[in-house]
Amino acid sequence: MVQIEVQTRNREELVDITGEVQKVVSESGVKEGICYLFVPHTTAGITINETWDPSVRRDIADTLRKVAPRDAPYHHTEGNADAHIKVTMTGCSAFVFVSGGKLVLGTWQGIYLAEFDGPRRRRVLIKVREI
Ligand code: ZN
Repeated sequence: MVQIEVQTRNREELVDITGEVQKVVSESGVKEGICYLFVPHTTAGITINETWDPSVRRDIADTLRKVAPRDAPYHHTEGNADAHIKVTMTGCSAFVFVSGGKLVLGTWQGIYLAEFDGPRRRRVLIKVREI
């Protein structure tokens, strides 16, 4: 298993980590297989979506903020209840098939670390396996 670290810069931010993940895949030497990704945090998650048009990541963040506003009355009083809820919506794991040593993603797809309580140093655990 490989761990990559991502330093986020804002409280909420979708960080495109596709390049870093592809680097891990390339260094693994796996040509045909699967790449598992896991974010071991409760206020940051992972999601795969369009990375070409930056408006998409903005719309995702804006919409999640409408669903779970920061200042709504929550039972969890650490001040980051909204972030926990947003991670439940994005999830904290993903997988991508690997073929020819490359991540098999759609034309517009990329992998985002989804930060909801930053800025923080986040970890992404990655396992690439031959299948
Ligand atoms: Zn909390």
